[in-house]
Amino acid sequence: MAKQVVVFAETKNGSLRNVSLEVLEAARRVNDGGLITAVIIGSQPEALADSLAVYGANEVVFIENEILNTYTTDGYTQAFTTIIEDKNPDIILMPHTALGKDFAPRVAARLGCGLITDCTDVEISEGHIVFTRPIYAGKAFQRRVVSHDKIFATIRPNNIPCSKMDHHEAPKKIQKTLNLDEIRTTVKEVIQKTTDGVDLSEAKIIVAGGRGVKSTAGFEPLKELAQVIGAAVGASRGACDAEYCDYALQIGQTGKVVTPDLYIACGISGAIQHLAGMSNSKIIVAINKDPEAPIFDIADYGIVGDLFEVIPLLTKQFKQVLQ
Ligand code: FAD
Repeated sequence: MAKQVVVFAETKNGSLRNVSLEVLEAARRVNDGGLITAVIIGSQPEALADSLAVYGANEVVFIENEILNTYTTDGYTQAFTTIIEDKNPDIILMPHTALGKDFAPRVAARLGCGLITDCTDVEISEGHIVFTRPIYAGKAFQRRVVSHDKIFATIRPNNIPCSKMDHHEAPKKIQKTLNLDEIRTTVKEVIQKTTDGVDLSEAKIIVAGGRGVKSTAGFEPLKELAQVIGAAVGASRGACDAEYCDYALQIGQTGKVVTPDLYIACGISGAIQHLAGMSNSKIIVAINKDPEAPIFDIADYGIVGDLFEVIPLLTKQFKQVLQ
């Protein structure tokens, strides 16, 4: 039976985040011919609607209100809930990003429905919509079926490969100006943290440093390698706690969860809390001078050696091949 799906299309600096397209792909797997509506909150270019249609959106709702130009939990909760109540979809899907993690539970509470978070896959199996999600810090996966008549889930970035539609119609564009009267948050100032280069949570390649980098300057060879191969730079909490880098780079149980195609762990021992954030990477390369380091247990390729010798060699080789 056709299912109507509403998707939250997250944007960053006026562009769609890749995970928004992955969420649309998830919607296409479960809609069974039903309408897919993408919702964009805040003043964003109308041209985004066409990009969303290429990946499966039949209509795009733009919710405008000056107050929504900057993210606030209560503003986005109220705006998105209003559209859900208006559309009354069978399924609601959102990215499992910082924003999604922040306001999806509130929307679910207002709608009085459950929420399956951090899904890495979705499929139809024996007539049921089945969501897969990691448990026990990524050591196992559970498959969940929802009995509630409204299904609400968040989708982890970099797990559902998105594809363009063979054919698509021009999307219906709907502009909504909402009256939002319950916003209790006032944003005084937005301080942008400098994240040079590639966004960590959506990066296809990550070069991550641990306490083994030994200093802030020790991150420089990692940054150079990352720049040559188009990677984002990440870190263990050990490196963040030692103040070698900013906590924005932390990967793990209490940091970011990443699933790149290639994860290069440099001077990281492989504590369980770190693995919780990166063990689902497609290929893991570990560089560590201790052959007994636990990171080698999950690495596809291991290099036993001093990272300050190994990384410059890798960078030199990649430069020759790629430049
Ligand atoms: P270490 O364990 O000190 O490892 C450093 C490694 O570098 C060693 O294996 C060493 O052999 C190697 N090394 C040293 N010099 C070199 C060299 N020159 N070349 C090559 N290798 C070298 N950790 C996270 O990462 N993310 C989290 O989100 C997180 N959350 C946590 C939550 C809780 C509640 C708790 C209790 C802990 C959490 N931790 C987290 C911390 C975690 O337990 C580890 O302490 C941390 O991951 C260790 O970081 P590390 O591997 O960089 O450092």
